[in-house]
Amino acid sequence: MVENKVALVTGASRGIGRSISLALAAHGAKIVAVDIDLEATKAFVEELKSGGTEAVAVQGNVTVSADVEKMFKVAKETFDRIDILVNNAGITRDALLLRMKDDDWDAVLDVNLKGAFLCTRAAAKLMSKQRYGRIINIASIVGQMGNPGQANYCASKGGLIAMTKSNARELAKRNVTVNAVAPGFIATDMTDALSDKVREELAAQIPMGTLGSADDIANSVLFLASDNSGYITGQVIGVNGGMYM
Ligand code: NAP
Repeated sequence: MVENKVALVTGASRGIGRSISLALAAHGAKIVAVDIDLEATKAFVEELKSGGTEAVAVQGNVTVSADVEKMFKVAKETFDRIDILVNNAGITRDALLLRMKDDDWDAVLDVNLKGAFLCTRAAAKLMSKQRYGRIINIASIVGQMGNPGQANYCASKGGLIAMTKSNARELAKRNVTVNAVAPGFIATDMTDALSDKVREELAAQIPMGTLGSADDIANSVLFLASDNSGYITGQVIGVNGGMYM
């Protein structure tokens, strides 16, 4: 599906980014694993290599232009090309609107939206020349339907969905597709921290009655990263158990 393709994944060392990287690696991709935490990224890359995957770790903050340039330089120097970009790095800084600090707004918009923009711009340069690329943005169901206490996060993910469509239109003629995956509520460290009661209330809002897994997200990314999705661009795939339709 993605044999010998080179994939750069941001926020790769844990959570959903880790599952995405493992799924791409299991189907033959070479992985450029980017994360803020160098030690965690190196350890993850060693794990990938021990499973036979060609991989390289890059420490980088997606909000810093110089770091983003470095990520793509390392990718190009190591593997000579970049076929797949997964903009997965993301943060939350939740607060009700009246209590939300300027910093909470700026930090979330910076990582979730500007970070994806910087990485996409760098990737588009290489992919346009290659006349091949797959860019996948990890958005969120709350960017489609909103959520109290998450004005910053919802705005960043709604913006990411709009940017997905804009970039898809710009890059289509270069055979570079740009799509988004919008996860619903997924069992990760973030949702593990919720009480059983809150998790039950969440599950009750989901037609399928249960939270999703990081592997559910990874499988949809794998499809969008593969040659099987060549005629799909500018789309948002909801992986949410039917919570938003
Ligand atoms: P996570 O476990 O917190 O992982 C996020 C990863 O991104 C971490 O490895 C983190 O590094 C890295 N990161 C954060 N800021 C970064 C930056 N500035 N530059 C580079 N890397 C950075 O989150 P997750 O739950 O797997 O979520 C992954 C994506 O899915 C996010 O975009 C999130 O918004 C989206 N999503 C998640 C859910 C869910 O239910 N979990 C639902 C919808 C959408 P450190 O650990 O070193 O900080």
